Amino acid sequence: MQSSAIKTVAIIGGGPAGLMAADALCSKGIAVDIYDAMPSLGRKFLMAGKSGLNLTHAEPFTAFMTRFADAEAPMTPILEALSPNAIQTWAHGLGIETFVGSSGRVFPLEFKAAPLLRAWLRRLRAAGVRIHVRHKWTGWAADGTLTFQTPAGEVLAKTDATILALGGASWPQLGSDGAWVTPLQSKGVTVAPLQPANCGFDVAWSAHMREKHQGEPLKGIKISIDGHTAGGECMITEDGLEGGPIYALSGVIRNAITKHGSATIQIDFAPDLNASTLATRLAKPRGKKSMATHLRRTVSMSGAKAALLREGVDLADYTAPDKLAARIKALPITLLRPRPIVEAISSAGGIIWADLTDELELKHMSGVFVAGEMLDWDAPTGGYLLSGCMATGKWVGDAVARRLGRNLDAAVGKNNAHDPACSGVS
Ligand SMILES: Cc1cc2nc3c(=O)[nH]c(=O)nc-3n(C[C@H](O)[C@H](O)[C@H](O)COP(=O)(O)OP(=O)(O)OC[C@H]3O[C@@H](n4cnc5c(N)ncnc54)[C@H](O)[C@@H]3O)c2cc1C
Repeated sequence: MQSSAIKTVAIIGGGPAGLMAADALCSKGIAVDIYDAMPSLGRKFLMAGKSGLNLTHAEPFTAFMTRFADAEAPMTPILEALSPNAIQTWAHGLGIETFVGSSGRVFPLEFKAAPLLRAWLRRLRAAGVRIHVRHKWTGWAADGTLTFQTPAGEVLAKTDATILALGGASWPQLGSDGAWVTPLQSKGVTVAPLQPANCGFDVAWSAHMREKHQGEPLKGIKISIDGHTAGGECMITEDGLEGGPIYALSGVIRNAITKHGSATIQIDFAPDLNASTLATRLAKPRGKKSMATHLRRTVSMSGAKAALLREGVDLADYTAPDKLAARIKALPITLLRPRPIVEAISSAGGIIWADLTDELELKHMSGVFVAGEMLDWDAPTGGYLLSGCMATGKWVGDAVARRLGRNLDAAVGKNNAHDPACSGVS
């Protein structure tokens, strides 16, 4: 068994939350050690880069904050301290230009995560950050020392403060597997169950839908449930539905399933046309044309959209223009369950806010701070997830820096003069 007496801060988890905490600390001249279970850092961040790396969102801040739903109140000061604008400035400081897309989403100019992550790690290393990969945190020894499982056996680390930034439980092959829940629960910390978020849902498709239409997009639709609406493109999968509007509504859908056993969404296949316009078009004489041809010519519905309509409408209503028009505007589809958490983009649930101080320190464990997706907040895709992770990372980094300055071993601060190499978020 090795033992290292580290007189600094341990950040466990090298995703965007942990790295931003390191950035904030080293900008104050505080040396940090980052531990991660994987052979390299930021694997989920790199995966996010495969779909363009939507870093944040440029909509007005009040609208931005509503995306954090139940966690809006505690997340507001945190995101005020690292706002969407500040995130762009931070990226520019790493030499990464950003742009605002037509939807308000903010991306790196190159749509990639790797150059940003490389520049970020380079800056952290230059500032003296020590990185320990293949160190899986397993909890605390009886004396409060951190315990890690490594290829060389168990490693212990004693630190002045600890930041846990261990992520959620989606895509566990990238490192965040939710194994942190048990050691924290054993310390009395309450963790709301980790659940799939920004995920697809199962639908009991007919054999025809599954065989003929899986993989087909439903473009330009609007989905509604319980007064919430989202528009965009969905995909028919073998097991159900996935895609932007479904992800955006995943929290509402999940809650409805928990309450009622299943959730019924309404799909509007023609958001730009009202029902009476659709009915007028459908009432045009059909002649000898098939209903499929009539639908395609009058209201541009074909493929998976037409198949869904055909299966979701009673035969008698199928040829009644006003009834068919009403269904085109609101076709009910029953969603049975979320897809498994391992497939989800993010996870909801996590350490509850009531167990945290305003600085995101565990009330049960002085000197232990938490950041990122392991907290009990949820947000849709659109750059909100990375924004929330990075902002909570900076928040705890700043809090630990203040604490070290105030209470802990003053030598930590004195021995590490402010390092200008790492000033992206100060
Ligand atoms: C396919 C995909 C695309 C996405 N695209 C976007 C996007 O465009 N925009 C957006 O805002 N969000 C996106 N996200 C979500 C975003 O990537 C996550 O919300 C974010 O990475 C979470 O950051 P985090 O630092 O909290 O956790 P993570 O990034 O999950 O990092 C946690 C780290 O902790 C380590 N770890 C976990 N347990 C232990 C342990 N016991 N010991 C040691 N280390 C441990 C892990 O190895 C990992 O490195 C996407 C996610 C996926 C899966």
